[in-house]
Amino acid sequence: MVRPDMNCPPNHPLFAGQSESSGEAPSSGPAVPAGRYSMLCRPDEERACFGCCPPIRPPGYDTLADRERLIPVFQENRKKLEYNRIHAGEISGEACWGLGFLDEVGTLAGCLLHPARHGGRDLRDRTGYGDKCRRELCREALFWEEAPSDQKIFLLALAEGLDTFAYSSPRANPVFPLLLWGPVVAAGLMAECPGGLDRDVFFKDWAVLVQPLVPERDRYGLERRLASGPLSQIRWPEFIPRYFDALNGFRAYPPVPGVTPPIEHRPFVHQLNISRPAAWFLRTALGRFRARPDEALRLLTAWDQTLDRAFA
Ligand code: SF4
Repeated sequence: MVRPDMNCPPNHPLFAGQSESSGEAPSSGPAVPAGRYSMLCRPDEERACFGCCPPIRPPGYDTLADRERLIPVFQENRKKLEYNRIHAGEISGEACWGLGFLDEVGTLAGCLLHPARHGGRDLRDRTGYGDKCRRELCREALFWEEAPSDQKIFLLALAEGLDTFAYSSPRANPVFPLLLWGPVVAAGLMAECPGGLDRDVFFKDWAVLVQPLVPERDRYGLERRLASGPLSQIRWPEFIPRYFDALNGFRAYPPVPGVTPPIEHRPFVHQLNISRPAAWFLRTALGRFRARPDEALRLLTAWDQTLDRAFA
């Protein structure tokens, strides 16, 4: 979940001059939690993500596709905030009366109940989702925290000029998939584009990183390929057919047979001493949610060898 501004402490520089105090004593609310915020949610005063709000969204939901419906809702929520604070009550999760435009002109959307807007008083509990609102960060925001500074600058340039709906959109904002691809792929992209990368050029020249390749399934394999060649290999006409021939063949005849009950004693793959992309591969490409360490190792070694043969 990417939360627009909920995770930024009230003294965050991005909130300077933006407080809209409710008039209640700052000390009367719960302390603002430190640490659960990300600059990715709101990197500057022109971009803000509300992709994690409301807390329950349909699978594949995209903020950009919902823009026309959301604009009047966000205007109304901003206008009716004081009334809603008293009368609206708890939300079901599919919509939130606290989500609205943060400014008069409707440039940025985000949480109107955040303590940063109310002198430190956290009003999110009035929706019934306060704990979740304070607790959650999306995967992309967690990866953002791990990214080297030069990669953050490089990636964020890809989101320049996006409005709040497009910035929050996993489809329109290339920063989100690139964060999931991780630092090895990002470094490869930076090596290919030392002068920086324009968003239009990214979608024209590097669209394979959005589809058909997907980070959860393919990051492990792509990182292995990058150990012996530049990222530009994914743009070679033969790369995608070769990769998917190898992958589909491997999935059809994996060297470790599919699980048979009882399997409950096997650890989850994310608990094994393997890399995150390796666990993602086992889960997403092979459907192995649990595996013994030796099984995981056999599968990964065999996939390494399959890939190496495919590109020999
Ligand atoms: S209160 Fe609503 S708008 Fe605010 S962070 Fe929670 S879900 Fe999002």
